[in-house]
Amino acid sequence: MDMTAAVLSGIDDLALKRVPRPEPGPGEVLLRMEANTICGTDLRIISGAKTSGVRHGVVMGHEFAGRVEAVGEGVEGVPVGAQATCSIVLSCNHCPNCLNGREHLCENLRLFGYSIDGGMAEYMLVPREAMQNGNLVVVENELPATLLALTEPVSCVINGANQVRVQPGDSVVVLGTGPIGLLHIALAKLAGATKIFASGRAGRLEPALALGATEAFDLTGEALTREVLARTGGRGADVVIVAVGDLALANQALQLAAIGGRVNYFAGFPKGSMAEMDPNIIHYNELVVSGGSNARRTDVRRAVELLSSGRLDVSSLVTHTFPLSDLDGAIAAVRDRAGLKVAVLPQA
Ligand SMILES: [Zn+2]
Ligand SMILES: [Zn+2]
Repeated sequence: MDMTAAVLSGIDDLALKRVPRPEPGPGEVLLRMEANTICGTDLRIISGAKTSGVRHGVVMGHEFAGRVEAVGEGVEGVPVGAQATCSIVLSCNHCPNCLNGREHLCENLRLFGYSIDGGMAEYMLVPREAMQNGNLVVVENELPATLLALTEPVSCVINGANQVRVQPGDSVVVLGTGPIGLLHIALAKLAGATKIFASGRAGRLEPALALGATEAFDLTGEALTREVLARTGGRGADVVIVAVGDLALANQALQLAAIGGRVNYFAGFPKGSMAEMDPNIIHYNELVVSGGSNARRTDVRRAVELLSSGRLDVSSLVTHTFPLSDLDGAIAAVRDRAGLKVAVLPQA
């Protein structure tokens, strides 16, 4: 049996192809895909700007939701028909990072949608190693597939947020109001932050306010710093999250933080880029600086829990849907920043 899949054959060569539909072998699960959201990383993979861990010939898609279509021999507790997604991180379990609880930074990391066939297809196989690692998450309280597809970005944002641990009553600055910044805003609200300042492009301030920002500014540089200081009694914010890879923000994030503040460089910056930073701001103000990349399986489970319980209501993020047959239209919508999140629906 064949199926339609979005296959990356080379740089700038992503196209729909008819490929054999995978069959679940022993210990494996086949998902029938219902939604796959697309992000900026997908664009970088397609254009060749991102090559690390990418295999040409792969079925793309790392933000997906589906339903169990069939299970292989020996698979238990995975009902056919159940809604499901999975962690995209396939870790080796024996490198130092895996052994130190950072399986998401595994030295031998393989990712769905990069080297393992992903979710932009009618069906996706969850291979045996992923099943053994516990990557599959069966959803108990069903939710719209386009929302479940956000599990992956939400899990990454949870990992970043765990580095800064927003406390009730904290003030938080989120720099950047793309989908990732918006998710950080929603999580900061959930964590009980009372002041959430968002800074981003004018067109993205409304969604920032809708998801929980208490104030949103289309400001940069000193004007932004002045605004944040004025609204925090001159102290700066308890938490600053950099959610856009803009080098000018590298130092500004430090300036926006209060004494003892936590600063998270969540966004990746262009490869090889260098920034000027004043290390004395970290030194004198005793800042705690962290990063964040990918997500642990526990973050993925937490993401599903928050999304399916409705506690994290980010359904407004998915603004555009396309049938998989209009893959080009979907990719163009992401490229043109037509909306917030764009989803393809493999069964439409
Ligand atoms: Zn993504
Ligand atoms: Zn490892």
